[in-house]
Amino acid sequence: MALRQIRLKNDPILRKKSREVEKIDDRIKQIVEDMFETMYENKGIGLACVQVGMLKRIVVIDMQDEDGQMVLINPKIIQKSDEKQINVEGCLSIPGENGYVERPKTVTVEYTDLNGNIQQKTASDYKAHCFCHELDHLDGVLYTDKVLNLSEEEIERLNNEK
Ligand SMILES: [Zn+2]
Repeated sequence: MALRQIRLKNDPILRKKSREVEKIDDRIKQIVEDMFETMYENKGIGLACVQVGMLKRIVVIDMQDEDGQMVLINPKIIQKSDEKQINVEGCLSIPGENGYVERPKTVTVEYTDLNGNIQQKTASDYKAHCFCHELDHLDGVLYTDKVLNLSEEEIERLNNEK
């Protein structure tokens, strides 16, 4: 295992589109291990491969919940609710900042796991935010592109209207 360096906000690689993983070999498994180690070291709950400098469509997530460690290879959102939610997001590539972002309340993601099996996972609330945030990274999108410029009162009101 090895810690990898996290790429920060102005690094141009964060704006590039990651490429599909074609074969899950030992090298990919090593990268996944390193991603988890790097994520835990930096107290994150999700990390996309591009954040450690490789343009591969791999995301790791661990929200310390019943799902435990999740490895999502070539993930795609295949369904999302019309209902939206607003939550605070931060990003290991943008340390010390956060902002309100609107995301679907529920999303279903299809992905390949580390054993090469196709899986589907439906998540709501903050986990749906996490999935959307990490999958955006694979297309070069940062949460700061979507931050709402609203006061706390306005956000409270919007979330209560739903
Ligand atoms: Zn991020």
